Amino acid sequence: MEHYVVGIDLGGSKIAAALAAADGRILAQQRCATPVNGGAAAVLAAVAALVRRLLAEHGLAEADLGAAGLGVPGMVERESGLCRFSPNLFWHDVDIAGFWREHFACPLALDNDVRLGALAEQRWGAGRGARDLIFVALGTGIGSGLILGGEIYRGSRGLAGEFGHITVTRDGPRCNCGNRGCLEVYAAGPAIARRAREAMERAPESLLWRLAGGDTKKVTAELVSQAADQGDELARWLWEETGEYLGIGLATAATLLNPERIVLGGGVAQAGEKLLRPLKRTLAARTMTASGVTYPVVPAVLGSAAGVRGAVAAALKLCDRRGEGHGPGIPGTH
Ligand SMILES: [Zn+2]
Repeated sequence: MEHYVVGIDLGGSKIAAALAAADGRILAQQRCATPVNGGAAAVLAAVAALVRRLLAEHGLAEADLGAAGLGVPGMVERESGLCRFSPNLFWHDVDIAGFWREHFACPLALDNDVRLGALAEQRWGAGRGARDLIFVALGTGIGSGLILGGEIYRGSRGLAGEFGHITVTRDGPRCNCGNRGCLEVYAAGPAIARRAREAMERAPESLLWRLAGGDTKKVTAELVSQAADQGDELARWLWEETGEYLGIGLATAATLLNPERIVLGGGVAQAGEKLLRPLKRTLAARTMTASGVTYPVVPAVLGSAAGVRGAVAAALKLCDRRGEGHGPGIPGTH
């Protein structure tokens, strides 16, 4: 019997789910708002309802599901099936595996959302064909997913790939993680806006003042992008600097991991060439230039669909593994 899989991308503002065939073809999609204020129970109930809706829409029964994948924006402990911490969902120690077992019989592949995004880009997107790649999601925060030897790399405690929290300056602003000078306090969206506000105080002629209506609180990374596109020198310089910070961070990661490709996704990456140019220049200058090795940086292609596609990919991997004689698997997380 042909099995189907479901992939779910649980975000802070919306939940997206897709039903896919055994070959990865997406058959149907559903989404709903995340009832964050209702707490974990309400959010997980919404996930279950979304999955059931997808099945019903296609006239399928729960028994037709071979596996499911779920991406969560936070720290996920796959062994216990707990979400240890999610700043976007305001979760601490939420038992996702327990919830899943209560509602569904098929096994669940549970992972961090950015890691699943990396898996999706590798299978269907800009990372196709690469066995070793770094996927970086530049947005409100900076996350990354590492694919090493064709598999997601998670590290000993599941914390590998916290790319936004590598140190790029000795001192520097305090980060939410407790450290100082993290890449995220310079190059995440809100950090770019903060640096722009600070710089504007010394540049009364900047176009940013006009675009923000004279109110520095209205400055966002997107506005800095607009200003740069309209030729504002301060904004252009801010992107140069942002690209340099990211290039320094990526040079560290690339020197350590020697990836085949680096894929850049997330809203901040939409800034395009004005960010990519200084980033690539810095990366090239700071990665053992004598070795002659270069690291291609390419934009992600799946956009906001990466999370749900990655969850589908993880579910398919789970089906493959079971098909290869790894036993029927225990319902729960794998
Ligand atoms: Zn940090």
